[in-house]
Amino acid sequence: MIKLDGFSSFFVANWKLNGSFKFIDQFIDEVRIPEDESKCVVICPTSIYLDYISHQKRNFFIGAQNVSNYKNGAYTGEISCNSLSELKIDFCIVGHSERRKIYHETNINVNSKSLQLINNEIVPIVCIGETLEEKENGKTNEVLAKQLQEGICYSSNQNNTIIAYEPIWAIGTGLTPSLREIDITHEFIRMHNKRFNKFKILYGGSVKAANSKEIVELPNVDGALIGGASLKSEEFTKIIED
Ligand code: PEP
Repeated sequence: MIKLDGFSSFFVANWKLNGSFKFIDQFIDEVRIPEDESKCVVICPTSIYLDYISHQKRNFFIGAQNVSNYKNGAYTGEISCNSLSELKIDFCIVGHSERRKIYHETNINVNSKSLQLINNEIVPIVCIGETLEEKENGKTNEVLAKQLQEGICYSSNQNNTIIAYEPIWAIGTGLTPSLREIDITHEFIRMHNKRFNKFKILYGGSVKAANSKEIVELPNVDGALIGGASLKSEEFTKIIED
């Protein structure tokens, strides 16, 4: 498994359901990954391109966007941890809010996927976050606490799991919490249980070149999970260069 403590910051590109061979060729040609080995850059294409991109791989890591709950068997359309492991995939996003909302994934699913990933030497990047309604009702910490308690598996620790705080209302909207809110929420996650104290905690939700530096420099933030802006090679380069 990748040694997470060897990196001071993480930049994870979540390409969602976007990309093509042409897009990947052009992106890899244009993106400039800094020589700085303390930065860990992870690109998460759709599963169909994992193998292709891993053959082009230069100085970045590859992540999947999801994995099956099941090891193998009659689960048409699913992709197993073992298959990801055979492709030498190092990271996998788990429990993204789009999967929770559209595909009804639960904290229990997130927990069991993470456990299997860790058993296959793949780092789960576990997404947690509140809706706008929950935020407005002052429920953010309560929601995050439940997601952490139920979704982070017993074998997770700072060496094998990353947490990504992604307020759902900030994803793809151009809205972000204030810098103070981000830092306070990350601190809440870190202090919620002493086992999380040293976890790498990324922020996600409308990160772009114009705001990434100030977010990633916050004391409790260890990097960013980037959706829309990670599809633009120049914008993504600016984010990781800063
Ligand atoms: C995401 O999809 O995880 C995400 C953070 O998206 P965006 O950066 O587009 O808000």
